[in-house]
Amino acid sequence: MADPRGFLTTPRRDWPRRPVEERVRDWNEIHVPGALLPLVAPQAGRCMDCGVPFCHEACPLGNLIPEWNDLVSREDWRAAAERLHATNNFPEFTGRLCPAPCEAGCVLAINQPAVTIKNVECAVADRAWAEGFVPPVPPERLSGRTVAVVGSGPAGLAAAQQLTRAGHTVAVYERDDRIGGLMRYGIPEFKMEKRHVDRRVEQMRAEGTRFRTSTTVGRDVDAAELRARHDALVIATGATAWRELPVPGRELAGIHQAMEYLPLANRVCAGDLESSPLSAAGRHVVIVGGGDTGADCLGTAVREGAASVTQLDIHARPGAERDDDAEPWPTYPRLYRLSVAHEEARDLRTAPAADADARLFSASTLRFTGDADGRVRSLHLVEVDADRRPVAGTGRTLPADLVLLALGFSGPDRADGLIDRLGLALEPRGTIARDAGFATNVPGVFAAGDAARGQSLIVWAIAEGRAVAAAVDRHLTGGTARLPAPIGPYDRPMTA
Ligand SMILES: Cc1cc2nc3c(=O)[nH]c(=O)nc-3n(C[C@H](O)[C@H](O)[C@H](O)COP(=O)(O)OP(=O)(O)OC[C@H]3O[C@@H](n4cnc5c(N)ncnc54)[C@H](O)[C@@H]3O)c2cc1C
Ligand code: SF4
Repeated sequence: MADPRGFLTTPRRDWPRRPVEERVRDWNEIHVPGALLPLVAPQAGRCMDCGVPFCHEACPLGNLIPEWNDLVSREDWRAAAERLHATNNFPEFTGRLCPAPCEAGCVLAINQPAVTIKNVECAVADRAWAEGFVPPVPPERLSGRTVAVVGSGPAGLAAAQQLTRAGHTVAVYERDDRIGGLMRYGIPEFKMEKRHVDRRVEQMRAEGTRFRTSTTVGRDVDAAELRARHDALVIATGATAWRELPVPGRELAGIHQAMEYLPLANRVCAGDLESSPLSAAGRHVVIVGGGDTGADCLGTAVREGAASVTQLDIHARPGAERDDDAEPWPTYPRLYRLSVAHEEARDLRTAPAADADARLFSASTLRFTGDADGRVRSLHLVEVDADRRPVAGTGRTLPADLVLLALGFSGPDRADGLIDRLGLALEPRGTIARDAGFATNVPGVFAAGDAARGQSLIVWAIAEGRAVAAAVDRHLTGGTARLPAPIGPYDRPMTA
């Protein structure tokens, strides 16, 4: 602990964001480049190095937060990068995208603003790349065993990197034309620039991982043959089967799933398209669904120049303060939070809502109506109570000529036939079933990430990838536990 009084003398300071008017005119990340590094050593010095670091418990990866906070406060960046990478393959992803349950569990957060753990993580990761502290780590010798990983999201990539470094020959199969899963096609550029994914993929290639893009296992490659050709198979195909909104008018033109809309914006940023065929420019946009995917649609629609954007959340507006009885420290509470996109919509007043918050809470969609050409024009909604019963007299109509459905995902996509061809057993909720060792019912086939856990977070996906790699390595080497497994398949976020 470099500064025993740091938490008393140094107030919390976050990585400053670029002004709203500036950042919505481009797709770059929203933070001020270069503004984090000068802040971060004193911020890391706020860490109290408390006896029981709940932050470390709250992080699914078990990141050694107090250790790297101490090293950063002493400006020992090389050692900090080593400690960070000891538990996290891709800290530049989590440092940008993680909702930071660690900060909700920070002991300082009991009565003060938490340590800026996520910012420190991002700074260490970026500095490590800048200083050349993260060279490729090819294996010293090859095991002669081969593994196919299906899916190149954070779970598949973490599994592939761990297994390659352990000496196995790993090929990653990806149905999209680029590697990265939802981090590539889904999460907008303004949350994480894709160059970070490209850089890691290059590192992995240099270590020996092979990548086969534009290859759908189950359609372009037979899943059973793939299993037969390898010593083990890891299914990390994500949970991309989206939920529907079965209300009258759903068939009208102009109503799309969020995951039909967001990847097109990613493709514009990648230079594949001049403009998105579903662009929100000049349109009244309504996003149905109050979660993060909806917020990503909001930020994208604002950047595309929507005439107005409203986001509907069926849940009641949460409180601004933690409810100490229902969600006590150190759990991650449901709070009224203003995401980057909500801040932009509010400041630019693109939302028709009275308090300029783009969100309408307790809002349930009843139906859509369209024009003579079959295009959506209006969305009709009603306010609902806590049991989702309509409140009389609260019906209203919003102008809507682009509607985006962001209602979550029910489990892995089955259209490619992979699950059926392999004969994988499913859980009642549609995710891939597995035992305590991440093994499915088919010998030699393992499952990880959202495909098995259900829709989750990058940090859980990386933890899943590391844990499944440990299980596969044990399977291939006859039982010795050589790789770390931060979680078990049934572990869940901390609750009261
Ligand atoms: C819009 C959006 C925004 C999000 N934002 C955040 C965020 O800010 N922070 C956060 O922590 N989490 C976020 N998430 C959640 C996070 O992205 C996921 O939890 C995480 O990506 C899951 O990782 P995964 O590796 O299990 O699956 P995925 O990332 O879904 O990757 C699965 C991959 O498998 C491929 N695939 C599927 N079937 C086949 C097949 N048959 N053959 C070959 N390849 C196949 C898919 O194309 C995909 O590339 C977001 C999710 C969405 C949808
Ligand atoms: S990965 Fe997430 S939970 Fe873990 S230290 Fe980083 S920000 Fe915190």
